[in-house]
Amino acid sequence: MKPILPGSTIGVLGSGQLGRMFAISARRMGYRVHTFSPDRDTPTGQIGDVEVTASYDDLDQVCAFSSQVDVVTFEFENVPTSTAEAAERCAPVRPSGHILHITQQRIREKRFITSAGLPFTPYREVRSTAELRQALTELGYPAVLKSAAFGYDGKGQFTVKSPDQIEEAWRVVGAQEAVLEAFIDFEREVSVVAARGMDGNFVHYGAIENQHSRHILDVSASPARIGSKLVADAVEIARTVLDKLEVIGVLCVEFFVTRSGGLLINELAPRPHNSGHLTVDACVTSQFEQQLRAVCGLPLGSTEQYHPAAMANLLGDLWSGGEPDWPAACAYPEIKLHLYGKLEPRPGRKMGHLTSLEQDVEKALATVTNARARLTAST
Ligand code: AMP
Repeated sequence: MKPILPGSTIGVLGSGQLGRMFAISARRMGYRVHTFSPDRDTPTGQIGDVEVTASYDDLDQVCAFSSQVDVVTFEFENVPTSTAEAAERCAPVRPSGHILHITQQRIREKRFITSAGLPFTPYREVRSTAELRQALTELGYPAVLKSAAFGYDGKGQFTVKSPDQIEEAWRVVGAQEAVLEAFIDFEREVSVVAARGMDGNFVHYGAIENQHSRHILDVSASPARIGSKLVADAVEIARTVLDKLEVIGVLCVEFFVTRSGGLLINELAPRPHNSGHLTVDACVTSQFEQQLRAVCGLPLGSTEQYHPAAMANLLGDLWSGGEPDWPAACAYPEIKLHLYGKLEPRPGRKMGHLTSLEQDVEKALATVTNARARLTAST
């Protein structure tokens, strides 16, 4: 198949920061970018050439949008399956809607991971409080109840610590199809961000280490402080996932590293991932350029990392005392500031991030968290 060359137009379903950073890469390489979402003046729309504001359920609009572009990709994996199918009728969609369908629903995702013979967190499918009670008897307390559909950043999750929380947990996940996972007392969390091209070529960024706060990614660092055997195992698991799903694009596998040194897959994201944001400043080819190259059928780029790096998310909470003190963070010469152009800084909302490159991961982590603390030091 012929590659989609610079000058062509890429359509992005979704309009958040992932689309924004993708659009920056695409524009830099001479592509045009159209974005589709229900919102206006969006992080992606501010960078792209054309911003279409319409409902994902408006399939005529989805088809009209797709007909105007050379390839459709997505930055938001929770677009309805019917939207991806409508886009597929009017343009190539990469990665395919089939991959979206699997990864946007935890039960389908876990069944795929099981069938691929890969290690995963023990879980039970749950469709009622009676089934939840039974599952808790089998997996024990505490355990994490997660809605099967449309969950991200800890939304629709509840850690059940005792039987008297069963009703509340069921309510929090929306009294709908869910999975109950054993609570993993992990040693660390790591992720592998990887890309697979149209020719089946596979590249990866090694293991990235992640710390979450309130179920939301807080800080990432690369390379992860784990042994080389574990890194190799995690990369091989990621390779299996991308090959089996026949991904054309970027996919992130999130893992728990258990206290006994094993790996368990937590979840898959079929797109660039928050933990890979540090690749923008730290690597020869960022995860976003890699997505562009993959979906356009170009050869994938080098994932070589210049220096150890760390990334800290900037959530809307930082605005609670007024505008953060940007010059104070920029006073660290090695800090890179990324802001996503979001107009409303709500608590828990990802507004931007900081990246630092240093001689080692510990220093990079210290710099990035110190710089972030300085943003609100005067309030
Ligand atoms: P998720 O949205 O499923 O990726 O969950 C977000 C974060 O919540 C994870 O990265 C973990 O820090 C924590 N978490 C989720 N599931 C579990 C689990 N089964 N055991 C322990 N911690 C978990």
